[in-house]
Parts: sequence; C-alpha cells; structure tokens
Amino acid sequence: MPKTPSSGFYHQPFLWRIAGARMIIRCYCGWCRRAQHYLAMDLVPIFGSDAVVGQLWGCCPRCGKADRWTEQERLPTGDDVGNLVIRRPAGLKAVQLWADDFYGPAPYGPPWPPPPTMGSVPPRQYEGLTLANPSPWDQDA
Ligand SMILES: [Zn+2]
Repeated sequence: MPKTPSSGFYHQPFLWRIAGARMIIRCYCGWCRRAQHYLAMDLVPIFGSDAVVGQLWGCCPRCGKADRWTEQERLPTGDDVGNLVIRRPAGLKAVQLWADDFYGPAPYGPPWPPPPTMGSVPPRQYEGLTLANPSPWDQDA
C-alpha cells in the first residue's frame, strides 16, 4: 500500500465535493504569516465547482508569492463555533470605467430620453422640433 495520498483524478479535492461536506478551507501564507478561513460553499460561485482546493488562488493575494502558500480543507470542529473567524463574501463593488471620445451627435435625443414606455403612455411630443437623430423611444411604433 502506498503511504502517500492518491493524486488521481477521482481523489482530487474538488470544490463541489468539499462544499458538499460543509468543510472549511484554510489559506495560509508563510511569508505574511497570515491565515484566512473560508466556507467552501461561499467559494463555489466564485471559483466554480470544478476548482480544486490547493489551486484556488495559487499564490498569496497579499504578497503574491506562491512558495509558502497553502490551501487546506478540513472539517469544522466544535471548538470552531464562536472562535474561528470566517471570511465571507460581503458584496461586490462596481467600478465606473471612462473613455475619451470626440464630441459629435449625441447618441440620444434632447434633452434626455424619456423612460421607455410599455405601450400605455404615448411617446413625448416635441412642438415644432424635428430630431436629427431620433432615439428609438421617440419613433412611433
Ligand atoms: Zn503572503
């Protein structure tokens, strides 16, 4: 019998299997000497269920080094209740991107496009104004 754990495909620590067992993933960086614990179920929508524990981040997100970075799954114990700090997803932050462009005809009509109607409200009428670049909302359906 071999004394090393199997590295075969079936015995890979897939994230879906770790999450199904309600396990905890401990990530530790030997350079930063910092450990973070994650619930495997929280990481499934982020990394995908086919991800393998040990290759999730691949390197320390803080210092970027990979040689002392470990990701290890384990079962929670009774001592973890109320003592172990779990890092959980707390929302996404949207970032507005900007691009420089030359001034030209506005892509929407003046002064601002009315909100799209569901057919109950007639389109807005402009008195004596013909739009050079009508928006799809100003055109008669
Ligand atoms: Zn580190």
